[in-house]
Amino acid sequence: KTNEIGWNFDNSYARLSESFFARSNPTPVKKPELVILNSTLAEELGLHEGGLKRKESIEIFAGNEIPPGGFPIAQAYAGHQFGNFTMLGDGRAVLLGEQITPTGKRFDIQLKGAGKTPFSRGGDGRAALGPMLREYIISEAMHGLGIPTSRSLAVVTTGEEVIRETELPGAILTRVASSHIRVGTFQFIANWGSLTELKSLTDYTINRHYPEVKESDNPYLAFLQSVITRQAELISKWQLVGFIHGVMNTDNMTISGETIDYGPCAFMDTYHLDTVFSSIDTQGRYAYANQPYIAAWNLARFAETLIPFLHEEDEKALKIAQEEISKFTSIYEKYWLHGMRAKLGLATNEYEDDMLVDQLLGIMQKHEADYTNTFRALTLNELKGCGMFQSPDFQQWYQRWEQRKERESQRGKDSIELMKNANPAIIPRNHRVEEVLENAVNQGDYSDMTRLLSVLKNPYNYTDVIKEFTLPPEPTDTPYRTYC
Ligand code: AMP
Ligand code: MG
Ligand code: MG
Repeated sequence: KTNEIGWNFDNSYARLSESFFARSNPTPVKKPELVILNSTLAEELGLHEGGLKRKESIEIFAGNEIPPGGFPIAQAYAGHQFGNFTMLGDGRAVLLGEQITPTGKRFDIQLKGAGKTPFSRGGDGRAALGPMLREYIISEAMHGLGIPTSRSLAVVTTGEEVIRETELPGAILTRVASSHIRVGTFQFIANWGSLTELKSLTDYTINRHYPEVKESDNPYLAFLQSVITRQAELISKWQLVGFIHGVMNTDNMTISGETIDYGPCAFMDTYHLDTVFSSIDTQGRYAYANQPYIAAWNLARFAETLIPFLHEEDEKALKIAQEEISKFTSIYEKYWLHGMRAKLGLATNEYEDDMLVDQLLGIMQKHEADYTNTFRALTLNELKGCGMFQSPDFQQWYQRWEQRKERESQRGKDSIELMKNANPAIIPRNHRVEEVLENAVNQGDYSDMTRLLSVLKNPYNYTDVIKEFTLPPEPTDTPYRTYC
């Protein structure tokens, strides 16, 4: 009867060596209630929305029941946290299994906040409602923006309190990702596993995410190159929308190239290269402008784990790895500049385009311009009101941009359409997200959250923009802070 819902598991990761994970059942909770369900995602997964709203499914989202074919495990991984290497593992997440969709795609179905696991260390294994709803909103917003990401299928409240600074309502998020294999997964096996295990993890990951590299002369080198390329593209997309992950530890970087682990992340309002939101990132290690460098650093840690497969001689293998890592910046910059050109309505390349972009960003930083709204204003050519647009430095830049666009139109390119598809009309503004969370968590009123989620589904839609969601926050002396 449960399978009228469409669960269709094939748990390939759990067939790997047992040292890669620990069997770990979710800890049951008192009184689960479904507070939000992603019906679009459910359909993509081949799950029937009606069935997912029934009690038997809510028990599954709460970890009180195991879905048919599920095999709950906690995944083992290590990681560099703010530069320090340590053993980690799923401390509050349980992988229920891998759902095979009607089109044959494979997705991890994971419960976040499902109770203690063998990797919990001191933690309680639980999650609070606010942060789980926040992850739901931001991850779905990222998906709407066209950025590879884990998705959010459902949030249930548990009827139990979690103890943080105060008592908070507990919740469990059902998270969906093409896998949760991380740089840290490779680091864990490379450090504590055997070479046979490392090879089996590598081959497994290639089969799951990069099967095309098997055609290559050196599949392991091609694998490394592909991961580097995919991460470069991902980080460029973060930079282009002003997304700051906040905790780019190697355990939070996927091999698939999807964004995962939405903790202290946030979108930048005012453009500034040094922007940091996370309360624990006191050194600014994960500041906006550092993200590409950190990605390269993390990928170097990944490359190190592949040394045994890159060449018979370690020294040569190390050289190969270093050479590949050194290519990251130029690959990243290529994606970034391509994206920036699109944001300025440029489909063709000219030599000085990077200067044009850098000048604009410099002017924006100097005038403390809102990142998203500046590009939206340029898209709509609504350049009144704001101080920066009246300034001589901007006006000068604007003329150069006009001339550049003129050459573009001579080549028959439509700048406006390009810009509308590259510059979101809306992002999840921190102060708006806080407001809708406040209503949801404290009032049990999910109407604003639902409204926000519905506009975030189509952020490049310029026709039905809800103005209140586009406004930057009021100026304040206390900068926005995020917590893990
Ligand atoms: P993160 O900073 O979210 O990447 O988490 C780092 C590590 O802390 C991971 O191993 C998590 O599973 C673990 N962790 C975070 N919160 C909890 C919690 N409440 N209970 C147990 N482990 C946790
Ligand atoms: Mg993590
Ligand atoms: Mg986390």
